[in-house]
Amino acid sequence: MMELGRRTRAALLLAAAVVCAERPAWARFQPVTCKNAFTVEQEQTEGAKVAAQVYKQMPVLPDSDPISRYVQGLGAKLVEQAPGYKWQYNFHIVASEDINAFALPGGSIFVNLGTIQAAETEAQLAGVMAHEISHVVMRHSTCNITKAQTPKLGFGIASVLSSIVLGDSALASVAQGALGLGANATMMKMSRDAERQADLLGAGILYDAGYDPRGLPQFFETIKAKYGEGGLSWFSDHPDPGNRTEAVNKEIATLPRRAGATVTTAEFTRIHALGMQAKVYSAKDVEAGVWRRTGLYASGPGAAAGMVPAMETVASGAPRTGSGATRLSGVMLGSCGSQVRFQGSRFSVSYPPCWKAVGGQDGSATVAPPGGSGSAGLTYGAVIGFAKQGGDGVSDAATLSAATMELAQRLSKSNGGLQQVSKLQALSLGGQMANAVELRGRSGVVEGGAQLAERDWLVAVARPDGDLNYIVFVAPEPDFEAMRPAFTAMMQSFRAE
Ligand code: ZN
Repeated sequence: MMELGRRTRAALLLAAAVVCAERPAWARFQPVTCKNAFTVEQEQTEGAKVAAQVYKQMPVLPDSDPISRYVQGLGAKLVEQAPGYKWQYNFHIVASEDINAFALPGGSIFVNLGTIQAAETEAQLAGVMAHEISHVVMRHSTCNITKAQTPKLGFGIASVLSSIVLGDSALASVAQGALGLGANATMMKMSRDAERQADLLGAGILYDAGYDPRGLPQFFETIKAKYGEGGLSWFSDHPDPGNRTEAVNKEIATLPRRAGATVTTAEFTRIHALGMQAKVYSAKDVEAGVWRRTGLYASGPGAAAGMVPAMETVASGAPRTGSGATRLSGVMLGSCGSQVRFQGSRFSVSYPPCWKAVGGQDGSATVAPPGGSGSAGLTYGAVIGFAKQGGDGVSDAATLSAATMELAQRLSKSNGGLQQVSKLQALSLGGQMANAVELRGRSGVVEGGAQLAERDWLVAVARPDGDLNYIVFVAPEPDFEAMRPAFTAMMQSFRAE
């Protein structure tokens, strides 16, 4: 018995040794801990607040966008291998041309489209993401704050982080002053030490997830060679700790060689091609907020496109991100019970209860069924807005029809050309004169690889104040008749106020 026991133990030890040889813990870079004044809960709550700010100030693709979905999948694969506390990691895409990525405390990671465009292989992109995950694992942001924070600081970390991440210069300088930081110090700007740690841990995560870990140093080499080090926001936020490539390669050399590590995938090639076509904004345009009026970007994590309405955003034919929306069917088209009322700022309208109405800052609104508004723009639903009229405004049938045709032209111009397919129809809505006209263009809905035709039904209502309200009803041509009853009911319920 004794003998057997000893043998069993020896066998177990041997087995353990084999496991260790496969993953020699002693040779692996281990997460470095640093002094941190924040609890895990604080880090999550504050990080979530900052994430909400990011959506307000940057064009973040909806989570349903094909590029977002791909990065979520890739991120999930990497996160499985991340050591330490199991943060609620989540991954998003910012439509910024800058080659950069950033991680917020608590696990929200944002990758710029510029990074997707610059990556040559999936292993390279995964390398950047593993690097960001490593910043989260080692809690670098909150450690930085802990290091810098004076004891009586009157700011929450969310406001400090948001101001700095998002470049709100006024608040940032106040926060930095209070923190006793220099003008250029930022929380997201990592120390060279933090960078070295994120590179080494990142390489390990990449390796464990089955990727060629050389993707990580390769990406930095690629962007350095292609774009130069100066002016690149990546290198400004993630400074080269010195001999970056050599240091990472040295770490990689300690990892057991393995055949069949993934360098790239067909899925990456597909997404990379989509990323190359996608609209990206310069830092200046991100700040100027021109993207807000497109309605293409998400209003928060898990949200659909922001549906910030403007006449110019109606879907047809305009170039957009992603691979196109899919066709909707059945109940979503409007036959889902008795209508509910939406109170706008100077109008009200009823709409099907399974749809969603979202008011915009300029007093307009978008009303769409689930899936009707996304990265392909508004493909099903309605945009309601105002058109200010000069002079005496709209006062009779003649001025109304002239104003309606002018609106139709504006709509056509902003949507790559629309064809008028009906005569101008005179209506009365809630006692106000109105005109309607149908137009035909191209939909953001793609079926069988082809973009469907789209029907846009423009209704212009003369307001009591002489200005116009417009409603543009939108659906792919093959679905328009199915939606017409819902659209008609909406139109008839419209009241200019
Ligand atoms: Zn970094």
